Amino acid sequence: MSEETDRTPVSVFTSPGRYVQGRGALGRLGTLLGGLGSRRPLVLTDDVVRGLTEEVITESFAQADLPLIFERFGGVPTSAEADRVSAVINEGEHDIVIGLGGGTAIDTAKAAGDNTGVPWVSAATVASTDAPTSALSVVYTESGSFESYRFYDRNPALVVVDTQYVAQAPVRFLSAGVGDAFATWIEARAVRRAHTTNMVGGRPTHAGTALAELCWELLWRSALPALEAVEKNLVTPDVEAVVEATTLLSGLGFESGGLAAAHAVHDGLTAVEQTHHLTHGEKVNLGSLTQLVLEGAPASEIDPFAEFTARAGLPTTLTEAGLGDAGDAVLDEVVRAATAPSETIHKLAFTPTHRDVVEALRAVEGIGRRARARVGLGEPTPEDYR
Ligand SMILES: [Zn+2]
Repeated sequence: MSEETDRTPVSVFTSPGRYVQGRGALGRLGTLLGGLGSRRPLVLTDDVVRGLTEEVITESFAQADLPLIFERFGGVPTSAEADRVSAVINEGEHDIVIGLGGGTAIDTAKAAGDNTGVPWVSAATVASTDAPTSALSVVYTESGSFESYRFYDRNPALVVVDTQYVAQAPVRFLSAGVGDAFATWIEARAVRRAHTTNMVGGRPTHAGTALAELCWELLWRSALPALEAVEKNLVTPDVEAVVEATTLLSGLGFESGGLAAAHAVHDGLTAVEQTHHLTHGEKVNLGSLTQLVLEGAPASEIDPFAEFTARAGLPTTLTEAGLGDAGDAVLDEVVRAATAPSETIHKLAFTPTHRDVVEALRAVEGIGRRARARVGLGEPTPEDYR
């Protein structure tokens, strides 16, 4: 390949091999794994999820004549945990690894699969992040700070999302998924405007960007009735639509459409202890608001977004993130991490300065407070998320 060809930007779209979503989908896991040629799968999950799913999975694996071997997930997706699970895969001669539960178990299964050269499968029982479909993991430090993204050559071979479990989980999980998924279009749109690259090193395809936009539309249409349904443990068409948005569309949309400032601000927020009571999608929502401020989005765009996400149970103020009284030193630490050279904030069409980002974060407080007041929510407090 000539040097010039090598540098010519190409468009790249990536996706998992198969996506299966619905009530009772987990009961099909055994058959689906058999279809992938697996004879000796390893299921990585924590004790809580194991307790909730063991009966269904036992029956499903028995039907497919597969041995059922669980490995207990340590809880934090660190490199050390991935190495530990890799050793289990090698010793047990497993031919596939399934991350069962939420984003952290799923991301660890991906890392262990990549370490050992076996395919990996995402089996989601909550819809709190878009981790299940992507070919990357978020690696955390032992203390729960963002460490890095780890990129793989392959997406999961299979993604299974059981909406019955999603509806039985605390509504906060789905709400967080909505926060993560709303950012997808805000960020993909910025990457498209800036002609920068997506998460797989290419220009976004029209398909990648369009899926991000569809994700946004489905959330506006269905997120509030879906959250209401999940409060009552119901699976409705709105719930199915929102789970598709938070898992499939957000996953494809962020990876193939690209990330920008919202996730960079999320990563920055993880750098300080005060925010650790918030989940990924909750912190991302503050990142979305910060990106909109940085972009100079009009009030006609920011205000309805802040109101809607507040109604969806998401934080819209620094106060909820435990940063209501944060001094400059704390916000400096957040912004240093958010603007690190490897961060996706540099995919924007412009380069915000350190001070720009600090002041955008401070501006979010007032925007969020006023939005909460307009929709009849009380004073923001971090206690709502503890
Ligand atoms: Zn995310």
